[in-house]
Amino acid sequence: KPAAPTNFIKQIVTEDLNSGKVQTVVTRFPPEPNGYLHIGHAKSIWLNFTLADEFGGRTNLRFDDTNPVKEDEEFVRSMQEDIKWLGFEWDGLFFASNYFEEMYNRAVLLIKKGLAYVDDQTAEQIRETRGTLTAPGKESPYRGRSVEENLDLFERMRRGEFKDGEKVLRAKIDMSSGNINLRDPVLYRILHATHHNTGDKWCIYPMYSFAHPLEDAIEGVTHSICTTEFEEQRPLYDWVVRECEMPNVPHQYEFGKLRLSDTIMGKRYLKQLVEEKRVDGWDDPRMPTISGVRRRGYTAEAIRNFCSDTGVSKSGGVIDLSHLEHFVREDLKLKAPRTMAVLNPLKVVITNYPEGSVEWLDAENNSENPDMGVRQIPFSREIYVERDDFMEEPVKGYHRLFPGNEVRLKHAYFIKCEDVVKNAAGEVVELRCTYDPETKSGTGFTGRKVKGTIHWVEATHALPAEFRLYEPLLAKSGADADGEEDEEGAAAPSFLDKLNPNSLQVVHGFVEPNMKDAKPHDKFQFFRHGYFNVDPKNTTEGKLVFNRTVSLKSSFDP
Ligand code: ATP
Ligand code: MG
Ligand code: MG
Repeated sequence: KPAAPTNFIKQIVTEDLNSGKVQTVVTRFPPEPNGYLHIGHAKSIWLNFTLADEFGGRTNLRFDDTNPVKEDEEFVRSMQEDIKWLGFEWDGLFFASNYFEEMYNRAVLLIKKGLAYVDDQTAEQIRETRGTLTAPGKESPYRGRSVEENLDLFERMRRGEFKDGEKVLRAKIDMSSGNINLRDPVLYRILHATHHNTGDKWCIYPMYSFAHPLEDAIEGVTHSICTTEFEEQRPLYDWVVRECEMPNVPHQYEFGKLRLSDTIMGKRYLKQLVEEKRVDGWDDPRMPTISGVRRRGYTAEAIRNFCSDTGVSKSGGVIDLSHLEHFVREDLKLKAPRTMAVLNPLKVVITNYPEGSVEWLDAENNSENPDMGVRQIPFSREIYVERDDFMEEPVKGYHRLFPGNEVRLKHAYFIKCEDVVKNAAGEVVELRCTYDPETKSGTGFTGRKVKGTIHWVEATHALPAEFRLYEPLLAKSGADADGEEDEEGAAAPSFLDKLNPNSLQVVHGFVEPNMKDAKPHDKFQFFRHGYFNVDPKNTTEGKLVFNRTVSLKSSFDP
C-alpha cells in the first residue's frame, strides 16, 4: 500500500488510483536532446521515476526531438548515461520523431474538422497580430481557406514545395481568447534541415505545444509532469488531445522549477559557455550538469537525497547551493577515506630524527567509520606541511607552527619549531623542527597538551599532485539567468560579464604514497581541505589530478 502522499502530485495520483480514473500510473521524462542534463533535470527525473515507482507504475524516457536544428546524437547518448548514473531505469525508450507520421495524420484530421489552416503570413506578422493580454488578436486573411485548399497546401508543405517560413499550419481556435496560447497557435513549420533520426524525410516539423500532448497520448502517459511555465499552455494541451481524438487522455500537471543559488542552469547558457570554450566542456566540474557534478565528485545518492528533501511544490523557488553540498558531505562522510594532502607545501626538517631512516605509522582511514580500517604512512626526517600552517609572527589565537611553538602532527608526533630558513628574497623556504619520541600517536601520551594539530606528508615518499579548487562560475548575484529556451530561440541576455574570474584555482602539492593506485572517480577526504574526486579526464599514469568536490563545513583549526 502506498505511503501517505507527501506532495501535491502524489495526492493527485492517489486520488486518480482510488477513483479508478487511472489503472496504472505512467510518467515520462521528455528531454530535448539539445545539450547535457543538469541538476534541474535531475529533479524532474527523480520526480517522474520515483512517482511511478512508488505506485507500481512505469516511466518512459522519451527524447523530445522535434527540432532538427539543435539536436544531436551526442546528447541522446549522454542523457541516457546520466539518467542511468543517477540510478534510474526507464521502461520504454522512445523518440518523438518516430511519431512524425502519426502527428501528420492528426494534423490532417484537424484540417478536415475545420480546426486547422495553412497561413501564408510571416512569423513576424503572426506575432504582431496575436494581440495582448488586454487586446484581442487579429484574424489572419488566410483563416477562411477551405478544407480542400488547406489539405492540398499542407501536403505540398510536406512535399517540400515551399521554403522555410513561407507557410505554417495553425490551429483555428479563437483569436480573442483570454488565453493567448489559444489564439490560433502554430502547429507546424517548414524547416529544410537534416534530422538526427529521420534524416531528410521531413521538411515540416511539429511545434512543441502540438507534439508534446500527442507524444504523451500515444505512449499512454497518465500524468504528464512539467514545470510551471507551461501552466498557461494546459488548455491548449487538452484541446490538442481532445480534437485530435486521441484514445488515451493524459493530463498535464505543473510544479515549480528547481533553481540553485549562484548557479546558471538553462541549457542554452551552458551551451554558450561550452562553445565559447569558457569551460572545459559540458562536464567541466564547475558546470551544474550531471556530468559536471559527477566529475566534481558529487554522488548520485547525494543528488537523489537532495531532490527528495527539497520536495515538490507549485512555487519552486531558489534553493541555496549549500543545501545540495550538505547532502554531498553527508553521503561522503562515511564512504570516503580520510587521508592527508598538502596543497601548498613548506618543507620541514626534523633535526633530531635519525638521517636516512623511515618508520611506518598506523593511520585510521575514517575516524567515523572504523570498518574502513587502517593504513600505514611513512614518517622520516623530512616532511611537508601546509604553508598556511606556519606564521613567523603569529596573530592572536594562532595555535599552529611559529617559532618556539609545539603542535601535533596528525597520526605522528609533537614537533616544535626551532628555526626558520629563508632565501635571498627573505621568503621562508624551510622550517627546522625537533620532535619528541615520547609523544607518538596511539601510545596514550598525556604528559602535556598542544592546541594545534596539523597534517603533513613525508617528503621522500610523497606523490606530487594537482588540485583544482572551485568557486561558483558566476560571481555572487550574477546567477539570475535560468534560461527559458523557447522554440523561437530568443537571444540570451548577457551573463558573461558576471563570470567569476576565480572560479578555478589550480595548485600543486603532495599526497600520501598510498594514493599511487587511485583510480578516476575515487573519492577522498583530505584532512582539513574537504572532499576530492580523482579527475577522470586529466589524471594520467604519472600525474594525479584531484577536483575539490566540496570543502569541509567548518575549518578544523581555531
Ligand atoms: P533547460 O532549458 O534548462 O535545459 P528545458 O525545460 O528546456 O530546460 P528539456 O530538455 O525540455 O529542457 O526538459 C526536460 C524536462 O526537464 C522537462 O520536463 C522540464 O520541465 C524539466 N526541467 C528542466 N529544467 C528543470 C528545472 N530547473 N527544474 C525541474 N525540472 C526541470
Ligand atoms: Mg525544452
Ligand atoms: Mg531549455
